Amino acid sequence: MQPNDKPHHAPGGGFRNPWPGGKLSGTAGLLKWMVVDRLTKRRPPDPDPSVLPRATPAFATPRAPRDELTLTWVGHASFLLQIGGLNLLTDPVWSARASPVQWAGPRRWVPPGVAFAALPPIDAILVSHNHYDHLDAETVRALAARYPEARWLAPLGLTVVLERWGVHRVLQLDWWEETRLGDVAVGCTPAQHFSSRGFGDRNRTLWCGWSVASPARRVLFAGDSGYHPEFAAIGDRFGPFHAVLLPIGAYEPRWFMGPVHMNPDEAVQAFRDLHASRPPLPGKRAVMVGMHWGTFKLTDEPMDEPPRRAAAAWQAAGLDPADLWILAHGETRRL
Ligand code: ZN
Ligand code: ZN
Repeated sequence: MQPNDKPHHAPGGGFRNPWPGGKLSGTAGLLKWMVVDRLTKRRPPDPDPSVLPRATPAFATPRAPRDELTLTWVGHASFLLQIGGLNLLTDPVWSARASPVQWAGPRRWVPPGVAFAALPPIDAILVSHNHYDHLDAETVRALAARYPEARWLAPLGLTVVLERWGVHRVLQLDWWEETRLGDVAVGCTPAQHFSSRGFGDRNRTLWCGWSVASPARRVLFAGDSGYHPEFAAIGDRFGPFHAVLLPIGAYEPRWFMGPVHMNPDEAVQAFRDLHASRPPLPGKRAVMVGMHWGTFKLTDEPMDEPPRRAAAAWQAAGLDPADLWILAHGETRRL
């Protein structure tokens, strides 16, 4: 294979965003945001966490019918997906903080929507990248102990990390690669982001989203991503989707977050791109599920702003309000 067949593989090893908009601010930008902006700008206030609704999960136990898709929002990017008769988790984080240490770092605003002990049998876990709000060592160890036979799917470079935490069955994939879990097809999709858990490890491991397709239902978990030009290609290759889980939070300030986190307007645009050449089948719904908001305070926008902006962007695009799903923590919905 020619090196330029994989423009997201950096020449010296590691990975990069292959698109013009994917260049991150450097250390100077981080310092400006974390120090200068903190001293000179007032962050808009956050509401009390009690304004964020919670619901009692209603997922199927132990498993949902094979032709159904069931989504339960644990919080942030953590979902229980029941598809093709399997139980899957995305980016599972049950810890109190999204941080390398539990005495500092972004604290959970809302308890996990599903108690860890209440989880049904888990068949597979999908990991999008190594940031602390998506990949939590304590949660991984707990899942590995409780579900030793579960399959783990991760982007390139994460096998070593997961095995260190007690996971046995990891398959790491590159963008556009696919595997199967029984009759469920799982595809690794491009995302515009970066990776890092400490010093000197920037972009050594890959970031991605996941397409999950049973014979009856297709869902896309977009991972953590800025808006990029390949959503139409993802729709062509893996769609049409019945449900698309897109990040709608952690977007302010745009000059700093834009390359790595889409805002709600861009999420709606990504949803439209995904269906550009393969619209939902007649009479079939395609819903957008907002995620990556309301759970950890990561950025400058108020914690409850993302759903309001998503609803406005959805309406401005002329889409059916019933097809924008903003779940409460713990809420289950079926398709
Ligand atoms: Zn991230
Ligand atoms: Zn994130």
